[in-house]
Amino acid sequence: MAFSLIWNTSIRCVDGYVEIDFNISPVVRRKPEDFPGLPDNLEVIVYRKEAKDYHYNLFRNEFFETENIEEANCVFTGKPVRKSFNMFRWVDKNVEDGKVYTYWLTTKMNDRHLSPLSVRVVDKDVIWTHEKTLAESRRIAEFYKGVEFTNYGYSVKGREMFALKKGNMDRAVVIVGGIHAAEAGQFTALDVFEKFLKNKDDAFFSKIGFAVLPSANPDEAQRMAMGYTSYLRVNSAGVDLNRNFPADWDIVSDMYGLRTDDPESATYRGPRFASEPETRAVISFMKSLNPISVFSLHCYPGGITYDQFLGPGVGGEDSEYVEKCRELVIPYSKKFRKNEYPGQLFLTFGATPGSFPVWVYRNYHVPVFDMEAWDYFVRNHEGALKACRFGADIEMMNDITQRHFAGMENYLSKYIETKGL
Ligand SMILES: [Zn+2]
Repeated sequence: MAFSLIWNTSIRCVDGYVEIDFNISPVVRRKPEDFPGLPDNLEVIVYRKEAKDYHYNLFRNEFFETENIEEANCVFTGKPVRKSFNMFRWVDKNVEDGKVYTYWLTTKMNDRHLSPLSVRVVDKDVIWTHEKTLAESRRIAEFYKGVEFTNYGYSVKGREMFALKKGNMDRAVVIVGGIHAAEAGQFTALDVFEKFLKNKDDAFFSKIGFAVLPSANPDEAQRMAMGYTSYLRVNSAGVDLNRNFPADWDIVSDMYGLRTDDPESATYRGPRFASEPETRAVISFMKSLNPISVFSLHCYPGGITYDQFLGPGVGGEDSEYVEKCRELVIPYSKKFRKNEYPGQLFLTFGATPGSFPVWVYRNYHVPVFDMEAWDYFVRNHEGALKACRFGADIEMMNDITQRHFAGMENYLSKYIETKGL
């Protein structure tokens, strides 16, 4: 049989298991006499191989399509679970956290298998589902006095865009997570905020406010949590949200050799500025407050981001602005670091036209940074390499949030002192 009886396969990781859904081909329905016993007695054969050398930034399709079924093991033969007339599911419970697997499906009536499917088995405490981000945010809003939970819109696929706020919104420290889906986000944003809630009193919050939007690209963050094997950046409509803001949007950038006016590029700016509902939600969130500083979390899955401050490119020629940024970065890095790279500031100005930092700079003129992971300054840093291979664990994540809390706290105590608040 030259075609496959199995169609429309989809694969995901759910609660530490791998789930594969598929349909049976419509030809079975059209000519049931040619397929005796189907679909009632459909039997599938599943082959599996661990994709050992696969990591974060390899060319995904190239990698998986050259995986060899000859090296795979047959892990199942038999009847899958039938979900409806022509929808079936097979679940693999014999998998390990952190591993990437390639699967091939076929049936006894087929002489060939369906092309490979790949999935990463993720630890849901490291890579958060949207439901978890929502539940954790609601928990914080209910548990701590004076925390407001506010909706600012919905993503392309209708997921809720929301933020938490507490304190003086005329002097707000803003944290935005996950504008690039595979990068740092939900956990880091919420955990740093929660450390301030635990450690600071009403007097502090009367001077300074915190406003946290933990998940700026929730559709693709969810796909990450469901085991997508590679780096996800753009939103589910294929737009790089960090190029979609109404700030110098019409200037085409070719950072990374990718053009922002190319709809197939991973840095596509969108058909017009603020075309994406996620961008508009972030803007309406920002318009509800007056920021003193803005931190947009980038870099690695599991919330791993360091004190590498990437400011707006246009701000780099504005010496008064650069000085304002240095006044933040110096005390921040002092407490963020644990004797690493003494005396070095990891501060550059390169965020591109259409990015969130450029929009904040144009509208508020306050320090704003894409927070990155030292990569530009420190090649082959052990922690960064581990995180970039999806190797972050809870211990590493807690260390990072503790460092950000210490850095931010030190910067803010200097700020309060300097302003005489
Ligand atoms: Zn990024």
